[in-house]
Amino acid sequence: MMRSYQFNAVKAPLVTHEGPAPKPGANDVVVQVKAVGICGSDAHIRNGLMVTSKRPITLGHEIAGIVTERGANVSQVDEGDRVVVDYMISCGRCQYCCLGKDNLCVNGKAIGFDLDGGFADYVAVPAANVVELPGGLPFEQGAIIGCAVATSFHATKIAEVSLGEDVAVFGLGGVGSHAVQWAKLRGARNIIGIDVVRKKLEFAKGFGATHAIDPLSEDAAKTIAEITQGKGVEVAMDFAGQPASLNSAINSAARGGRVVIVGRGPREIPISPWAFLRRELQMRTSSDHLRKEIPAIVEQVRAGRMDLSSSITARLPLESVNEALDALEEHGSEHLRIVVMP
Ligand SMILES: [Zn+2]
Ligand SMILES: [Zn+2]
Repeated sequence: MMRSYQFNAVKAPLVTHEGPAPKPGANDVVVQVKAVGICGSDAHIRNGLMVTSKRPITLGHEIAGIVTERGANVSQVDEGDRVVVDYMISCGRCQYCCLGKDNLCVNGKAIGFDLDGGFADYVAVPAANVVELPGGLPFEQGAIIGCAVATSFHATKIAEVSLGEDVAVFGLGGVGSHAVQWAKLRGARNIIGIDVVRKKLEFAKGFGATHAIDPLSEDAAKTIAEITQGKGVEVAMDFAGQPASLNSAINSAARGGRVVIVGRGPREIPISPWAFLRRELQMRTSSDHLRKEIPAIVEQVRAGRMDLSSSITARLPLESVNEALDALEEHGSEHLRIVVMP
């Protein structure tokens, strides 16, 4: 028997469920969950802003743990292996998968959105979806690699942040704060973090931001123009998904700059194509991550280039998952990532 925490109804707490532990299909492994990150998407699902394809469903898609059982066809993974779970399941056969754009797979499914996820003692996942977590890396860091750290990594690749460029990061939560670190690793010059929560500005500075702006006390675009001697930033990334943040990102971009949309808020945002045309801006979007990026990220963390040691701002037992969701959602929340542990 095992515990799981299921989403059953919008705007209601996840429900405790006791049931048998999952059995692996022929191509699956069962992972004993050691740590699961709480993502904004989990809160959005509970709120009705995002939908799952079934109900009830066990949420949780930032998963790390130990393989305890494997299906008949599985040979590349062993029982006892420490792993990060890639929550995105792609088919490997459609035209997008064949192009290496498996985040756009037409047959794509996601663990914790379409299939039962990691807010549980055990989870069954395809063996192709686990990536080895080296012994020196804690499970809590492995967990957040699966979404927060991967989404920001992919976004800075889509943005093509390059040596010596100026970058603005709007929204410094679990995803945006890591984009600051990736931008630094990619050799950005000025890295300007923007958020309304003072504590998140402090974290961003610790992660390598050269400047921090609270848009409630100053006009972000104006300050960014001053920092860059009137030029603006080559890359303006929006992780907040709010009308103010996206429009501010557009207004902060240098001529010919890239505006990258990553975060999605609850409301549609009207934007003017003329704002793009005048300065020949590019609008880019970044969704999730690619399969091959997960092992690449694990290697960056293992090698000590990417530091996740201060990314987790709270650790709670699995049974406190609803409190963890509440804490992330709280107005003015100072959390980057909260991890729950069975
Ligand atoms: Zn997520
Ligand atoms: Zn596919």
